[in-house]
Amino acid sequence: MTRPVLLNPGPAGTSVAVQHSLLRGDMCHREPEFAELLEAIRGGLPRALEVAASHEAVLLTGSGTAAAESAVVSAVRAGRGIVVVNNGVYGDRLAGIARAHGIPVHEVLQDWTRPVHPDQVARALREHADADAVACVHHETTTGLLNPVAEIGALVRDTEACLVVDAISATGIERPSVAALHADIVCGTANKGLHGLPGMSFLLLSEKGRTRAAEAPVRTVYLNAARHLAAQRNGDVLFTPAVQICYALDEALREFTDRGGYPVRVAEYERRAALVRDGFDRLGLDILVAPAHRAASVTALALPDGLDYAPLHDALRAEGYVIYPGQGPLSDRTLRVATMGELELSTLAAFVDVLGRSLARLRPARRAGRNPSTRP
Ligand SMILES: *Cc1c(COP(=O)(O)O)cnc(C)c1O
Repeated sequence: MTRPVLLNPGPAGTSVAVQHSLLRGDMCHREPEFAELLEAIRGGLPRALEVAASHEAVLLTGSGTAAAESAVVSAVRAGRGIVVVNNGVYGDRLAGIARAHGIPVHEVLQDWTRPVHPDQVARALREHADADAVACVHHETTTGLLNPVAEIGALVRDTEACLVVDAISATGIERPSVAALHADIVCGTANKGLHGLPGMSFLLLSEKGRTRAAEAPVRTVYLNAARHLAAQRNGDVLFTPAVQICYALDEALREFTDRGGYPVRVAEYERRAALVRDGFDRLGLDILVAPAHRAASVTALALPDGLDYAPLHDALRAEGYVIYPGQGPLSDRTLRVATMGELELSTLAAFVDVLGRSLARLRPARRAGRNPSTRP
């Protein structure tokens, strides 16, 4: 069976070289060769994401949520609280993580299709003197929405609070770059914009972030950022890492850099977004988020009236494309198309054609009848 084209927001499609890197061979993580690999990745991540001068990487074995959990619990000292921007599933998850660890949460709420306003965050910081950190999602993958993280960073920078940014679906592929965010603890993952495999995630810590992580109480054994950092600085790891997934991340970082790094990849993602959105427009599909706030890597669309997600998904799956449902309260009436991972523009153009034919076939008869020529 040929593999379908993945248009889901991670795990994203990978190159043949990344897939083959899994076969580099068995390796003990307590030997010098792993220390070398660890150092290559810990150096490579901040270089690739253009924060080598300001941030230090910590590698974690686990999906992106492991990095998010490690970041939140490491950003808040004992007896203090956290301001969390919540305008989607992932902001909501950051709040849930804090609550699960008994950290008082002050939520800044916004509609799921609209960015938070930096003034809302400034107000929350004024109102909650206990706030030791602000946590915000850069790209809310729920709706393909960008939050104004750089503006939030500019106002958090002058306070005692640390800025935690869940950039898991943004690193390497969305604007602005990590360097512009003034973030103290950035969360990322191997298998979205970096085109690695699922199983490894990471933090990028500024000096303020590193100091804070050292001051925060040990709330978890597995995800304590300060302890991971101390071990990894010595070429060591606390627990058994996903060695082969590290091979893949190493290879993916090499490709990222060889192809021209962040400026080239982000421009490529913008070309992808323009291509599919032009197609969606021609097909009469409405994008949930206003143009000024759209991420490049995910487009959330309203389902046409009278059409359910499942038959559309199944029709596209039969043609070799995996799309993704909406989440939470949006799950009934939306679909998502991610243009993440190894993808050719020609593949996306072919997808738009197939989508058009599928919609013509599936839309209620009254509508499909208007366009009989596109029926197969
Ligand atoms: C994918 C994603 C995560 C983490 O999801 P995992 O399934 O744990 O990898 C967290 N935040 C955002 C914004 C994401 O897009």
